[in-house]
Amino acid sequence: MSKILIIEDEDAIADLEKDYLELSGFEVDTCPDGLAGEKKALEGNYDLIVLDLMLPGKDGFDVCKSIRETKNVPILMVSAKKDDIDKIRGLGLGADDYMTKPFSPSELVARVKAHLARYERLVNTNAKPENKMIEIRGLKIDKTARRVWIDGEEKPFTTKEFDLLTFLAENPNHVFTKDELFRKIWDMESIGDIATVTVHIKKIREKIEVDSSNPQYIETIWGVGYRFKM
Ligand code: CA
Repeated sequence: MSKILIIEDEDAIADLEKDYLELSGFEVDTCPDGLAGEKKALEGNYDLIVLDLMLPGKDGFDVCKSIRETKNVPILMVSAKKDDIDKIRGLGLGADDYMTKPFSPSELVARVKAHLARYERLVNTNAKPENKMIEIRGLKIDKTARRVWIDGEEKPFTTKEFDLLTFLAENPNHVFTKDELFRKIWDMESIGDIATVTVHIKKIREKIEVDSSNPQYIETIWGVGYRFKM
């Protein structure tokens, strides 16, 4: 559950925001003071902060700046004056969004949801992507790097050989006709030259099978097509 901190000195507004956000399934803390709110924001593990501009203790400008120095949590700034919004923008404090009071609680909820979703995407994008691997017995396919190993030894694969092998390995125990494979891998209507598939299967087998006449990976299903043995 996402945790939200509302720093707002007007109790009625803080309560309304809290109610609506809680109804939307968020966990909400409130704080009526700028200085205490800043401390809470820095120490707590919040997913988003709704920050009022005019606050006792420390104003929203300074609180925003201070949070931004150490955290990239989304900050939604709220102000009673339209002019303040321009000022916030001009100062480049790093707030993610601005709302002018009065606003409807449902608009607040919609914006909070949008920022949380965006932030999550950002965090996920920054995470180091892992290569997509397929490992079946002695065969290892790195889909991301488009490399193939058999019993630890790397084998060179052409584009179509790689696509064909990967497609079969991703759909094990499924029998595909040559026609289906041709259309799938060569991405065009098969006009009869499905011998291409046979030739590619033969080349793949030479690379991954110990004994091509007795294949352990790609089986020939006579009269039908091919199947990757799981
Ligand atoms: Ca205020």
